[in-house]
Amino acid sequence: MARAVPIDKLRNIGIVAHIDAGKTTTTERILYYTGRTYKIGEVHEGAATMDWMEQEKERGITITAATTACFWQRNGEKHQINIIDTPGHVDFSVEVVRSMKVLDGIVFIFSAVEGVQPQSEANWRWADRFNVPRVAFINKLDRLGADFYRVFKEIEEKLTIKPVAVQIPVGAEDNFEGVIDLMDMKAIIWLEETLGAKYEIRDIPADYVDKAQEWRERMVETIVETDDTLMEKYLEGQEIGVEELRKALRKATINRQLVPVLCGSAFKNKGVQPLLDAVIDYLPSPVDLPPIKGINPNTGETEERKPLDNEPFCAYAFKVMSDPYAGQLTYIRVFSGNLKAGSYVFNVTRGEKQRVGRLLLMHANTREEIQDVSAGEICAVVGLDAATGDTLSDEKHPIILEKLEFPDPVISMA
Ligand code: GDP
Repeated sequence: MARAVPIDKLRNIGIVAHIDAGKTTTTERILYYTGRTYKIGEVHEGAATMDWMEQEKERGITITAATTACFWQRNGEKHQINIIDTPGHVDFSVEVVRSMKVLDGIVFIFSAVEGVQPQSEANWRWADRFNVPRVAFINKLDRLGADFYRVFKEIEEKLTIKPVAVQIPVGAEDNFEGVIDLMDMKAIIWLEETLGAKYEIRDIPADYVDKAQEWRERMVETIVETDDTLMEKYLEGQEIGVEELRKALRKATINRQLVPVLCGSAFKNKGVQPLLDAVIDYLPSPVDLPPIKGINPNTGETEERKPLDNEPFCAYAFKVMSDPYAGQLTYIRVFSGNLKAGSYVFNVTRGEKQRVGRLLLMHANTREEIQDVSAGEICAVVGLDAATGDTLSDEKHPIILEKLEFPDPVISMA
């Protein structure tokens, strides 16, 4: 089996935002820093890497659910991040729901000026319904009227999961320089606003020391509340190590008790690298989540599939697109087992055996042919006659993944 990284180093994420909060810009910066794009196109030029279709270019919004694989080093180890392109517009909420089913975590972007907007609330509640763990990124801190603390408070008051700031900003608006990492208690200051994105780790500036201490205390208190052992240590006045705190926050994020909050300005190239670190630190890999459930069509019984290579194959087709070069591309998320290029698969939804052509790992600017795809991974299949929403599985062990429901959004959308 040819995994690019072990399954615990894999993150399948979506980036979700109210329109204009900076999803496209943040996605492009992520692709740039992870080294997979060589040319960056600004949104207004209509050349965004994730915008595959002409129609999207015209509208400036992203409506397809292509995925892009990229790689990020954290703690000296290579991690793979698959970005599942979730649509941001409420008109396309059926697509939002479909993508929720295949992603394991979300980077939720808010504008530091506009704050929590109605569309953010609606999308947040969709994520609640699908139990998706989240980290939040308060973007546009360079803009006039940006206020990290106000938006943090809005998240606390309007949304369902308790936020915990793991950073606070240094400077604001035109003078936004960087962030204070409240875990390491260091300042990260960007040296330039261009794409080079060089930064320096410095001591906390003197006039931020009190504020940083106050917010660190708040962060520690919020985290220890989710962990009995740490709470005991805390009450006894013992020192709690950074790694213990990070681990507890990871667990609380995956259990959807807490949402780590970070900040920056994607446009000015500040804050995106620490955001990638946070994706690795706090969002789950496929093995951190419970097994997927489905119905065996022969027995009508509910069965589970664990994210293991030696389980029977099972995958969900979440997007079918026509591609100018390859013809029909079916994007699949594999939940268990593995699939080889050139083999056969059972389309349980249609009740027929189907041939699998080539398998492609889609990068921002290239596509890589792979020989097999394993539990937890996402790829595009060429030449499969499947429709969006089909379950594919091992013929001897058929399963239909729980039927997608489209419940009414909890709040009305303005
Ligand atoms: P999307 O609709 O969420 O994908 O948002 P875009 O990424 O297209 O951003 C909307 C507009 O805001 C574009 O003109 C961006 O250049 C701009 N923008 C995005 N991020 C920032 C930021 O951090 N600071 C500033 N000043 N502008 C930003």
